Amino acid sequence: MINLYGQEINKLTKLMVEEGQKPYRAIQLYTWIYEKRAQNFDEMSDISLRFREVLKEKYCLELPKIFLKQVSSDGTIKLLLELKDGYKVECVLMRYNYGCAACVSSQVGCNMSCSFCSSGILGKQRNLTPEEMVGQILVINNVLKEENKGQRVTHVVVMGTGEPFDNYDNVMDFIRIINHPKGLAIGARHITVSTCGLVEGIRKYAREGLQTNLAISLHAPNNKLRDALMKINKAYPLETLMPAVKEYEEVAGRRVTYEYLLLADINDTKECAEQLIELIKGTKGYVNLIPYNETNKNDYKRSSGNRVHAFLDLLTKGGVTATIRKEFGSDIDAACGQLKAKADDL
Ligand code: SAH
Repeated sequence: MINLYGQEINKLTKLMVEEGQKPYRAIQLYTWIYEKRAQNFDEMSDISLRFREVLKEKYCLELPKIFLKQVSSDGTIKLLLELKDGYKVECVLMRYNYGCAACVSSQVGCNMSCSFCSSGILGKQRNLTPEEMVGQILVINNVLKEENKGQRVTHVVVMGTGEPFDNYDNVMDFIRIINHPKGLAIGARHITVSTCGLVEGIRKYAREGLQTNLAISLHAPNNKLRDALMKINKAYPLETLMPAVKEYEEVAGRRVTYEYLLLADINDTKECAEQLIELIKGTKGYVNLIPYNETNKNDYKRSSGNRVHAFLDLLTKGGVTATIRKEFGSDIDAACGQLKAKADDL
């Protein structure tokens, strides 16, 4: 069975032509499944009964199942979804005044082994398919529909479990499906991919011709510290990563966001702020400071509010644009990987 939710438009068009159909069938199907939110083929009244039977035989419209749902007092919803083979992945809905943002996972587990992150503890089990990533957004949209407030996911960040550039082709299909005007029609500038710094992926992404955003998980301003926090830095140290970021800015014509997690007494010192300013001075990117979500899987502590603000002040005075990431769902195990870790312990 081919899951229609995973089909990028050119691939679906090719499939329809192979079925002896006119190319426009693909757009017609997109309209039914994404705009009209058809749940089955019988609803597709302008498709002939005969072809609907063919569709039923070979294609399906399957979504991951909700295994756990946590709702925070601030309206954040965290879902643990069960996939067909029993693996589970997390996705989160965050509510901003400008819309609803979904944080999507790209892999089951992760191979990057960042020392502060609980997603990598068990390594990568497998890549997610495009339909499993699209499915996360559709399930969130269904949850929103039940609330009856007329809301849908308007923004997407690929910042859940997994390294998107370690699952490059599937993530690109996913982006093209959700960005397509007859797909979920989520604007390119509302879509952000976050990478720990896979340089080949950054270079390729620059050339996709997308107007989507890129975030780089930097977290440290020198190789010694970054080596200790992120294993990937040994393969792609800062002197390799930063030229790739500059190349991205030139080729894609877009600024990047640097994510910088603040860990108490590790990377939140005045010296680190000064090094960070020097490191990114030559790029146009801005810094998003992330208060660390503590987990029971390691000993890192979150920096105090004073430290976070002092760090922000130093960056600003040094001419670097920086913001502090707004926190969501702190009452519902919002730290990366915690809900899944909890479910695994059940
Ligand atoms: N692999 C990608 C995307 C997934 S991680 C990447 O590295 O960017 C998304 C972001 O969450 C990364 O910046 C990651 O470093 C950060 N993160 C991981 N564990 C965290 C925690 N406990 N608290 C806050 N942020 C965390």
